[in-house]
Amino acid sequence: MARNLFQKVWESHAVRVLPNGQTQLLIGLHLIHEVTSPQAFQMLREAGLKVRHPGRTFATVDHIVPTHDQARPFMDPLAEEMMGSIERSAREFGIQLFGLDDPRQGIVHVVGPELGLTQPGMTIACGDSHTSTHGAFGAVAFGIGTSQVRDVLASQCLAMDPLKVRRIWSTGSLGRGVYAKDLILAVIRKLGVNGGVGFAYEFAGEAVDRMSMEERMSLCNMSIEGGARVGYVNPDETTFRWIQGRPFAPKGEGLEKARAWWRSCASDPEARFDDEAVIEAPKVEPHVTWGINPGQSVGISERIPFPAEVPEPERKSLEEALEFMDFKSGAPIAGTPIDVAFIGSCTNGRLSDLREAAHVAKGRRVAKGVKALVVPGSRAVARAAEAEGLDALFREAGFEWRAAGCSMCLAMNPDRLVGSQVCASSSNRNFKGRQGSKTGRTLLMSPAMVAAAAVAGRVADARKMMDG
Ligand code: SF4
Repeated sequence: MARNLFQKVWESHAVRVLPNGQTQLLIGLHLIHEVTSPQAFQMLREAGLKVRHPGRTFATVDHIVPTHDQARPFMDPLAEEMMGSIERSAREFGIQLFGLDDPRQGIVHVVGPELGLTQPGMTIACGDSHTSTHGAFGAVAFGIGTSQVRDVLASQCLAMDPLKVRRIWSTGSLGRGVYAKDLILAVIRKLGVNGGVGFAYEFAGEAVDRMSMEERMSLCNMSIEGGARVGYVNPDETTFRWIQGRPFAPKGEGLEKARAWWRSCASDPEARFDDEAVIEAPKVEPHVTWGINPGQSVGISERIPFPAEVPEPERKSLEEALEFMDFKSGAPIAGTPIDVAFIGSCTNGRLSDLREAAHVAKGRRVAKGVKALVVPGSRAVARAAEAEGLDALFREAGFEWRAAGCSMCLAMNPDRLVGSQVCASSSNRNFKGRQGSKTGRTLLMSPAMVAAAAVAGRVADARKMMDG
């Protein structure tokens, strides 16, 4: 019977059906970081257990890492404690840690793929919501909570309920200056922030086929913002080319065998889906959020909606968003003044993201009064960008060039908004307080759009700043 990728991967990793009806699922790769692991390790110690498969467990540090002054001990004692804790746990349980002294350190969802740890047909778990990123490779990857981190550490398995699968078919191609970030914001706007609850999203169609792996990662990264715990793209030659030659990728004959297996994991042409949605990629404009969840966005030529223009159940949230953001229905999103510009995160902190932003920033200056940060997603991204001179280009334009980490995506390190600042951000969440100030306001957009906002001092159409 024809099956989709989710069904194939699920079935090949199912150990058994548990008495409560859940599936005991083998986890191929467990990624951990400093924030959600300390309690899990402590629970392991208290139960007298070891890590079941240290060789399938990899740790990095990202959330609390300062991106400016990384001297130890950190200024923040809680951050120092978390850092010390993961260092001790990695030593004690024999887990490979990409720590601050390791050239492989970076955001967990940037590091896994760039090291070739993330591969098609795998089940991947991590104590972080944006684990869906790894689905870009045709893996079934999901975020888990701390007690589940403990379960995977102890047993390499999880008790899970299967998901339904919705295929999101993107017709045509994205226009110039329009990115995967815009497509996923448009998808979430269309289907809602809870539209994906209970579903895995399969992203397919011409626009997705044409995307680079980095774009596919941005797309899958934000599946969770649409309520889908898992998002994936079927593996193809683009995927295989990315993986080949990476440190943890199979080599020689092993690679040939792996490629055959990876190919077989893709959804069959006649596979059935529980639901389908279509999005016309050529009609998608650069998107910008105006509200307090990632579904509250408009195209750059559009205006902030009136309550009557959104479905009835969304009106209360719209009113709450307008009050919090101090925005008005009917106002154009273009021209909204900003105070801070942040380029980075596991959504958009990769080399191609920095290149697109640099293309806009080149030869321009950050507007007076705007604080602009560029934070590479990993040390490898930073090295590659520096080799191309992107750091110098950004500095010359007035941006700060920082060390790898989650930075201003969330408020667990010194990079934070102050008061009610408005931040043009390439990250993934615009929830109230997400960027460290209770009254701080976040506008999500692509890295090129953040660069455009940084130099204009207000939300602007990056496409008008792209030449050549
Ligand atoms: S960049 Fe943001 S979303 Fe991504 S792992 Fe870090 S904190 Fe989480």
